[in-house]
Amino acid sequence: MMTKLKIAVQKSGRLSEESLRLIKECGIKFNNGKGTLKAEASNFPIEFLFLRDDDIPGYVEDGVADLGIVGENVLVEKSKGLEINKRLGFSKCRLSLAIPKGEKYEGISYFEGKNIATSYPKLLGDYLSKQGINADIHEISGSVEIAPGIGLAEGICDIVSSGSTLFMNGLKEVDVIFNSEAVLVSSPDMDPAKKDILNKLIFRIDAVLNSKNNKYILLNAPNDKVEEIIGILPGMRSPTVLPLAQEGWSSLHSVINEDEFWERIEKLKEAGAEGILVVPIEKMIK
Ligand code: ATP
Ligand code: MG
Repeated sequence: MMTKLKIAVQKSGRLSEESLRLIKECGIKFNNGKGTLKAEASNFPIEFLFLRDDDIPGYVEDGVADLGIVGENVLVEKSKGLEINKRLGFSKCRLSLAIPKGEKYEGISYFEGKNIATSYPKLLGDYLSKQGINADIHEISGSVEIAPGIGLAEGICDIVSSGSTLFMNGLKEVDVIFNSEAVLVSSPDMDPAKKDILNKLIFRIDAVLNSKNNKYILLNAPNDKVEEIIGILPGMRSPTVLPLAQEGWSSLHSVINEDEFWERIEKLKEAGAEGILVVPIEKMIK
């Protein structure tokens, strides 16, 4: 039988859409009808299992799935021996401590002897013990933010992205204990044939992620400015320089990182670049 990788992805929720998009951008084709629990790719040796995110680390640990895409928060909370193969850069959020808005907060010692509700008892417990704080951790599985309002706890520790849920429940964020993003995880003891497929998948994921962080840039410049402009442009090697039909002018092509993009564009204009085009990159193999 042909070897296949089984990958666990969230069935529906804040990870599922981006997880499937990434896989599609890797050129992997599959059909997932609504409500299906399993699907198979037609052009890559991979099978999908659609699960609740909380169950993903456990399934990978038990070998039911070879791989999974899950939030790092859930991974650290639930798993012992899984390896992070790749940080995926989406579903970014933070795990934070929050208390009622009207309370005065002067530091982590606020929580000494207090009662904190959370769905992340392990992450919170580790954090508090590192800080030397003794608190009572009350584990609940959802709607953590209402706990102080109903007298269940004096503070909470929960996922925050914009803070609007906290605000609506009369709470304020006082300390970030963990920053999370989606990660690709695998069991550390995978057989060589599966490892081989995993490496192919990671190669594709790298190409997709690199392409997202980079743009292809084309510009025109008078020949006497070309050297200065080459100094401003980064690029995998030096930029490509091509003569233009117009005498004394050249076209320069390069790849530029999203993060330094605007700063470099300004410098390029100052140095005499004209007709600057910036084009998205579909895949980038380093
Ligand atoms: P499931 O039904 O699969 O158990 P869930 O309700 O537990 O889903 P979601 O709310 O879909 O989980 O969140 C899944 C993961 O997405 C979280 O563990 C976290 O890593 C990330 N996440 C949660 N909230 C946000 C947010 N507001 N913005 C970005 N990422 C988030
Ligand atoms: Mg969940």
